Amino acid sequence: MRIDKFIENSREFFFSLEVTPPDRGKSVTEIFNTIDVLIPFDPKFINVTYHQPHISYKTVDGKKVRDVYRKKPGTVGICSAIQSRYGVDAVPHLLCGGMDKWELEDTLIDMSYLGFDNVFALRGDPAFGTDRFIPKEDGYSYGNELVAHISRMNQGCYLDDELIDGIKTDFCVGVAAYPEKHIEADSFDNDIENLKKKVEAGAHFIVTQMCFDAQIYLNFVDKLRDAGINIPVIPGVRPLTSSKQIDIVPSTFGVSIPDKLKKMMDESKTKAEEFESGTQFVASLCRELIENGAPGIHLFTMGKGKSAKALFERIKRG
Ligand code: FAD
Repeated sequence: MRIDKFIENSREFFFSLEVTPPDRGKSVTEIFNTIDVLIPFDPKFINVTYHQPHISYKTVDGKKVRDVYRKKPGTVGICSAIQSRYGVDAVPHLLCGGMDKWELEDTLIDMSYLGFDNVFALRGDPAFGTDRFIPKEDGYSYGNELVAHISRMNQGCYLDDELIDGIKTDFCVGVAAYPEKHIEADSFDNDIENLKKKVEAGAHFIVTQMCFDAQIYLNFVDKLRDAGINIPVIPGVRPLTSSKQIDIVPSTFGVSIPDKLKKMMDESKTKAEEFESGTQFVASLCRELIENGAPGIHLFTMGKGKSAKALFERIKRG
């Protein structure tokens, strides 16, 4: 199921999920345990995040050696496992970070052989322990370049110069956007111009960074429409169930927390009350998004099936 076509044809409000691969050496059942409790809410697709390698240094025989390893491998395999276990479309993420063009293309070829209709194309954050994004040699610096690569494959063009008439892939491409501006962008308008480059390169739908204020999302969509960006914009939402998360989320994700939510958390006396307050707040946010025409809600599960389930129940209850 191509997500753009699904949204165009169904016009019915939907939920989708986002899950993260387990750490190297851990079991995929961690993900299944999260999805098992959320499947009754009928998610239309499930995104699986991609993670670039960690770079660290260790000393071997007295010499400093660069150590590169991927802490959370398995995105493509997990997507395949999700599709066969649940019969729900899985959407693999793919990052410029840590891969050159050939490695990206090889991964996209795997994805097309496995029958994925959608791929979510990202640049990625600066590598762990660094403060600036540095592409791999012969890699891409920005998301729009990866989207353009996928669009070329959709036209049957691959990196191999001699291959002029390759199989045309048919990927529907999703990209990220930031209703409160990407942390590195020097202005909101520049960030939107850069988002437009991804759309012009061939992106078909957008999922936003998590947002805790429906008005911020709605204003953002208006700005995108004014800028001539007309593809679907699905708001990203995450459960917020503890005051600790309220402290961490803004600096980690570059998003703001409304005063009302802070107050509700401050007034909660126990962990159970915090859980209830956060769930109540995010559920009414979701209802506001639905009532104001968001095509669906994309839920970052953060590996927490219990809080995501409580949130869905609360939304449904009204
Ligand atoms: P880009 O679109 O390339 O933008 C990055 C920055 O560069 C922005 O400031 C933009 O304004 C600027 N820019 C873009 N294009 C140009 C250009 N052509 N010229 C000059 N400046 C430009 N991270 C992961 O590691 N794995 C994941 O699976 C993952 N999933 C995500 C899912 C969603 C829904 C979201 C919102 C984010 C996700 N992220 C993930 C985080 C993401 O990788 C980071 O936010 C990253 O810093 C930016 O990625 P991007 O694709 O949005 O970058």
